[in-house]
Amino acid sequence: MNWWSTDETHDAQRTSWVKSAQGHRDFPIQNLPLGVFSPQQQGPRIGTAIGDAILDLTACAAEALFSSPALSSCLQRHSLNALMALPSAQRQLLRQHISRFLSDPQYRDDLTPHLYPQAECTMHLPAQIGDFTDFYVGLHHAENIGRQFRPDNPLLPNYKHIPIGYHGRASSVRASGVNVRRPSGQRKAPDQDLPRFEPSQRLDYELEMGVWISEGNALGQPISIADAAQHFAGLCLLNDWSARDFQAWEYQPLGPFLAKNFHSSVSPWVVTAEALAPYRIAQPPRPAGDPVPLPYLMDVDDQAHGGFAIQLSVYLLTDQMRQSGDAPALLSQGPASNMYWTVHQIITHHASNGCNLMAGDLLGTGTISAPDISGFGSLMELSNGGTSPYPLPNGESRSFLQDGDEVILRAQAAAPDRATIGFGECRATILSAL
Ligand code: CA
Repeated sequence: MNWWSTDETHDAQRTSWVKSAQGHRDFPIQNLPLGVFSPQQQGPRIGTAIGDAILDLTACAAEALFSSPALSSCLQRHSLNALMALPSAQRQLLRQHISRFLSDPQYRDDLTPHLYPQAECTMHLPAQIGDFTDFYVGLHHAENIGRQFRPDNPLLPNYKHIPIGYHGRASSVRASGVNVRRPSGQRKAPDQDLPRFEPSQRLDYELEMGVWISEGNALGQPISIADAAQHFAGLCLLNDWSARDFQAWEYQPLGPFLAKNFHSSVSPWVVTAEALAPYRIAQPPRPAGDPVPLPYLMDVDDQAHGGFAIQLSVYLLTDQMRQSGDAPALLSQGPASNMYWTVHQIITHHASNGCNLMAGDLLGTGTISAPDISGFGSLMELSNGGTSPYPLPNGESRSFLQDGDEVILRAQAAAPDRATIGFGECRATILSAL
């Protein structure tokens, strides 16, 4: 089987005995994302989302429901790391098992005690993240930001040759729902002679996808682009909170530092590489005149199937909207196909010098923006660097985030004759600075 092949677990006609799964916005039986959760007053364990419920896979493994001893052992943990480290054939087997359990009514009586309402559970980070790296593959974001500084030449000369990235901070990645403290730091406004240490006044979000690494590679052993799929566990939503004022002052010559590492949020469910197979699409052709990727980044199958038919959305709920009972306002919406490099290309590039990736590592794609304002993935773009406050439906406007603002990221994967699957939410609220 190829990494983009589908099987009976993707069949749009397959239904679950868990009634809320049918037509569920995010979690029909065709999805089966993996995560770590705690039921009320109980410890963390591994589960899969099905409709409005979570199936406790750790409990299923303890009852020897899985035929594979390796799977059973990896499921009886508090994180997905061991599971992610398994070869892809084992992870495919897990998906087939779970899909059968949740579709075949003969399992209903045995499994019902292991189902919990999602609304009563706490979600955790899915893995212990060894390292977090953030890329910059959103072409239109790179152009939009570049244009604010270099109107005639927005992209730097390396952009179309090399996937740009930097090492982030794993310790401050949090699951959706954990509030974000407004950071203080050094900032120097253009009209000031000297920097000051004070709360950020240009706090922003960044709409990204998170790429979870499965099997690692040994130090000194690169990953070939043809093998990259074996190292890809799945996707989540990622909000790379950014203090634009700190960033402008600190980023030269070594790149982002304290402007980025105070907090990053991820959606708690890993939508697996196996679940995403039906939503694979060709990587959009490069515009005429763009360089062909160097051979180590070029693979015919990756170009033909390495993209994703995923729609991304950002919503904002301000304090005023919350108090009026308003729904969150849609800020932007756009496709993940606005990535200039594929997921396999950034995995391959990261390991190309022999750097060892590890199971549970997290790679950010970089902000994914569309060419026009309806799909801009940050306030820095929506407000044109803070010069044009972005109007909200209730009469408020935003140049940057205010205390009490809650940012909500959502995404869905869709394909003809396939069930639509979703990522759940990545949401967090800004708390005032200390
Ligand atoms: Ca970023």
